[in-house]
Amino acid sequence: METSLDINTLEFNKGMFGYINKSATPYHAIENAVLLLKEAGFTKLKENEQWNLSTDAKYFVVRENTSLTAFTLAENFSEKPFRIISAHTDSPTLKLKPNPIFDKEKHVQFLVEVYGSPNLASWLDRELSVGGKISGIDHDDNVKSYIVKSKKPIAIIPSIAKHFLKEPNQTEAASTLDLQTQINPILGDKLSNINLLFDEQIKDLKHSSFDLSLYDPAPVSYCGLFEEYIAGPRLDNLISCYISLNSIKHCKKNSANNSMIALFNNEEIGSRTSAGADGNFLSAILHRIYKDFELVQQASSKSFLVSLDNAHAYNPNYADKYDIHNAPIINNGPVLKYNSKHRYVLDSDLTTMFKKICSNESVNVQDFAYSNNIEGGSTLGPIISAQTGIRGIDVGVPTWSMHSIREIAGSLDSYNLDKVVKAFLSGE
Ligand SMILES: [Zn+2]
Repeated sequence: METSLDINTLEFNKGMFGYINKSATPYHAIENAVLLLKEAGFTKLKENEQWNLSTDAKYFVVRENTSLTAFTLAENFSEKPFRIISAHTDSPTLKLKPNPIFDKEKHVQFLVEVYGSPNLASWLDRELSVGGKISGIDHDDNVKSYIVKSKKPIAIIPSIAKHFLKEPNQTEAASTLDLQTQINPILGDKLSNINLLFDEQIKDLKHSSFDLSLYDPAPVSYCGLFEEYIAGPRLDNLISCYISLNSIKHCKKNSANNSMIALFNNEEIGSRTSAGADGNFLSAILHRIYKDFELVQQASSKSFLVSLDNAHAYNPNYADKYDIHNAPIINNGPVLKYNSKHRYVLDSDLTTMFKKICSNESVNVQDFAYSNNIEGGSTLGPIISAQTGIRGIDVGVPTWSMHSIREIAGSLDSYNLDKVVKAFLSGE
């Protein structure tokens, strides 16, 4: 079968697949974001140094190796509002606990705990790698830290064979898994020290400590008769991170507004960390740009936020779960999310503005609202809006199987959303 995708979409998806494949954990998502931004001429600012900002330069700031803001400034920037895109770098996963290696009846295993709300059934019987950050004391007696990945899949969580289940139709659903005893990945034969999984320089670190997660190393791939779908790990929310990065790289400098992207860690556990959206990262950056409380408040009242996070697509196999009048279809364009309890950030003026940009870019736009019988999830939008007073909307690409180890989205939607986001940041 042939592809139905045009050359621009294929090119965009190639870049996005590369970013997602390399971004195994939030540490890698930021490491790769920094590479893309440096390539595009952005300059690094450090939080512990004095800033002297210029309208000729483009900047980025990293916090705790897992969150990042990047921005460009208009002429007389302290009088101008921001247009901001937000996304999150983390995904539901299994994290290694302290004392992570144990032996159980001739099997070496990792001791893990659940981070966020993964669909655990999808993590079973899958080759898993491990990555994140390791710190320790080096030869010169200094604390050093490294962003690491195991070179190959090293672990697996075997499911129970169907034959051991009591009733013929009982499923081995994740709800029946014992989280202390049944989700610990098996490594094989022997492993004395976690450092041995990584590069040479890490093997000799003393007193090492870590923030390590399991991840699916299988790459994103196309599927569908004409490559209509993409399936891969961490699509929520690395698709949005990539769109944010690509848009700030290519948006037009304009006189009406400053442009910013903000990529946060810890959305999946509620964002209340210093690298999360409920910390002070974004407001600290805004205060340092405007340098004056009065100016920050004036600018915030005129600024706009588009919170990017994947949206639930209509799944025909579970039709009764949806409000059929507000159920987005994959490949029919970006989705505006609505929730009367403000689990999504809402603003009718900005919604209208966003729809106008979509129309200008010839991109169809869809609406999502949960069925009244479903409680549903939330995003960064309401948190950022409440923290800063900046009005916003929640938008994302329609996605199936959210929080599965492999999620499924449309081949067309990311490129189309990228066009709209670029126009938004360009002040159109
Ligand atoms: Zn998300």
